[in-house]
Amino acid sequence: MFGRKSIITVLTTSMLLSAGVVYAQTTNAANAQSVTAFDNKIIKKISADNMYNTIKYLSAVPREAGTEGEVRGVEYIESQFKSLGLETRRIPFPIYDYKTNSQLAEVDGVNLNGRAFSGSGSGNVTAELVNVGKATTGEVTDAVAGKIALVARGDIAFVDKVKNVFAKGAVGVLMYNNASGAFTGQANGELPAVGITREQGLNLVEKLKNGPVTATLNVDIQKIEKTSFVVEAKLKPNKNKDTGQIVTIGSHHDSVPNGPGANDDASGVSAVLELARIFVNTPIDTEVRFLTFGSEERGMVGSSFYVSQLPQSDIDRMVAHFQMDMIGGAEAGEDHPLGGLIMYTIDGQKNLVTDLGASATSRLYDVAIPYGQLGRSDHQPFHDVGIPSALFIHSPVEPQYHKPTDTIDHISKEKLQQATSTVGAAAYQIIRPDTPALERAHVAPATVNYDYENRPVD
Ligand SMILES: [Zn+2]
Repeated sequence: MFGRKSIITVLTTSMLLSAGVVYAQTTNAANAQSVTAFDNKIIKKISADNMYNTIKYLSAVPREAGTEGEVRGVEYIESQFKSLGLETRRIPFPIYDYKTNSQLAEVDGVNLNGRAFSGSGSGNVTAELVNVGKATTGEVTDAVAGKIALVARGDIAFVDKVKNVFAKGAVGVLMYNNASGAFTGQANGELPAVGITREQGLNLVEKLKNGPVTATLNVDIQKIEKTSFVVEAKLKPNKNKDTGQIVTIGSHHDSVPNGPGANDDASGVSAVLELARIFVNTPIDTEVRFLTFGSEERGMVGSSFYVSQLPQSDIDRMVAHFQMDMIGGAEAGEDHPLGGLIMYTIDGQKNLVTDLGASATSRLYDVAIPYGQLGRSDHQPFHDVGIPSALFIHSPVEPQYHKPTDTIDHISKEKLQQATSTVGAAAYQIIRPDTPALERAHVAPATVNYDYENRPVD
């Protein structure tokens, strides 16, 4: 799961309008359900030991995106999919690291000890300062052409402020904080961009009222390109019984830097591999795509890239995305039912995936798990193009989250079994041959009552 504190610009695909899926209101029908023969076809085959072994292998080496550790994990995942006979593809995409070699912001020969933005352009510019307020689109005029824009932080994204002044011909950005202390923002390499304190910024605003002020920005940032991967494995249905629809089941294979990432998210990968192993030998009428994403920890870069390269005809056929991230944490979930398993959607609304998930836990464990609202994982880009999506996770997360202690020792086989059974049984409702194809614009049955819960994940 992506860290809340590392709020970098997330490359999401553009929001596409699509026909909204309308779901029936939950009825007051009793939740009492029981395990069906269909469920048993899947859940009895799930082996938590298999999953545990996958996690053990993957978490032996950190899998930070763009490192050898990621490649080692990707090769393992790929080999597992291939051994199942799945049409498997490793999809590379670029990621960028920025190394700051020098950063200087100077006014009247005084060093402001500014901090270059992540993704600042490099350059050495000396020019007059122009106060452009918060640099919203309407605020920035041509007066900034050839000048350094003095920008107030707040209201709109850093990258948009930089974009707006760059569009009007500015040669540099000096942005001041709207809270105490130093800060750094983000840019996309257009021009030198440096952050200074609120106090320094307000002083410059005053100074500009008395006449021109000249500033110098000298930034040298090295852009280092690396490669990260998405692994995709396609399981095709029997040609004579193909609904033409696609269900995607995803997790992320990268870890945070130097983190073993046993629960985050080798656990999700282990579930994806285990469900692939089982579905390969189960008759289905719907294509299933098993996906593991790189660079989730950098802001869902891999899943965003994956969705962005899909032909629209594939997106149109995708009816559900199940994301599993952190599904084995022994100490996660406090004393919430079913180990704290919950389904988070981007908009905080129920959808086909949450309906099926709650229904599955109701049948399997006599408890309809709740849903809530959270992004911060790879369900985001799928949601953004109109695909019903949810994140399955134990919440709140365990104390080992994003720490070097996220090791195999803190993995619960019981939780792995439960979360994977839930997603497996839920997905099987769509892909099993005896159920009709879903009509995305039609009303899908909500078979159990389940509640919205405002449960913080960390
Ligand atoms: Zn994470």
